[in-house]
Amino acid sequence: MEETTNPSAVATAASAPEVDAPSVCDSEYIARLVRHLYSIVGLSNYKIKDLPEEFACIRNARELHNMLWSIREMAAALATGELEFASGERGFTMGSLKAFQSNLRHLTWQAQRIAAGEYQHRVSFLGDFSVAFNQMAEQLAGRIATLVHETEEYKDMSFKDGLTGVYNRKAFSQLAKKFLSHEANPSGSGVLVMCDIDHFKKINDTYGHLCGDEVLRAFAGRLTAALRPTDLCFRYGGEEFVLVMPNTLIKQGYSATERLRAAVEAMRVEFENCRLQITASFGLTEFKFCTADSDPEAYLVQCLQRADANLYRAKESGRNRVVADAG
Ligand code: GH3
Ligand code: MG
Ligand code: MG
Repeated sequence: MEETTNPSAVATAASAPEVDAPSVCDSEYIARLVRHLYSIVGLSNYKIKDLPEEFACIRNARELHNMLWSIREMAAALATGELEFASGERGFTMGSLKAFQSNLRHLTWQAQRIAAGEYQHRVSFLGDFSVAFNQMAEQLAGRIATLVHETEEYKDMSFKDGLTGVYNRKAFSQLAKKFLSHEANPSGSGVLVMCDIDHFKKINDTYGHLCGDEVLRAFAGRLTAALRPTDLCFRYGGEEFVLVMPNTLIKQGYSATERLRAAVEAMRVEFENCRLQITASFGLTEFKFCTADSDPEAYLVQCLQRADANLYRAKESGRNRVVADAG
């Protein structure tokens, strides 16, 4: 921190005149004295002889008188642009204006850094002010960290399905551009799967909605456990899920989906005293990566329609099966 002292700029207080003071000390008297002291601090041309007689002769008040004198001298020195003021008699040097200005510049810079997001800055001058400023910076840093964390959580929550924990339909549109990109599909294509639990309505009707919810959770859990880390699982509707397998050939996608189908069939869902077996049907289609000038949303609608048509064929041909694009 820059601090410059010009020795020639140090003003020195002259000695206060000797006074004989009475020991008068009632509250009205002290109040008048305090009012007088206040008014003196605001006057640059105050002369010690202007001190009213009643105050000029206070016994044992020499300390006060000297202080008053020093304040007057200091006010005069600072008002005429002196950078520093020294009271020789009392042996102290008042903080220099220059140091104060330098501190203020440093404080301004630190406040600007904090405003720019560098919350680690702290100051160390002006006593209580530093404590308050540093506390503010600390609280700000803590609050911002909490908000950033909460924002991430809320963002994540808004993309996740509350029941199953997999991505929701909103996330599907949001992430489409990413999973359709060339970076996600260096080989040029991937596989989109639409799947739907077979006769799910019957489960709800027979065992109740809570059981249906448990089946949905188990189904989503089984799908995600069997997928690769780069694959994505979305709950697209009630008991309808969409799987995205980027950078996958249709043949590989078919084998992977067939494994998923078998895994779902082999699974048993425990609910109260029941052990339920479920099956699901799957419709597959291939997608190509989207170039920058294409419309990924519109392309995705076409892909979903193809996958849905294949899912319909899987249902029509007996359920619990995987159907891919013909040819
Ligand atoms: P299909 O084999 O042809 O697919 O027959 P399905 O009975 O599975 O199909 P349908 O579309 O007739 O039934 C879907 C049911 O899923 C109807 C709806 O009440 C139920 N459902 C949708 N969302 C939820 C949910 O969050 N929890 C539960 N328990 N049921 C749900
Ligand atoms: Mg169904
Ligand atoms: Mg359905």
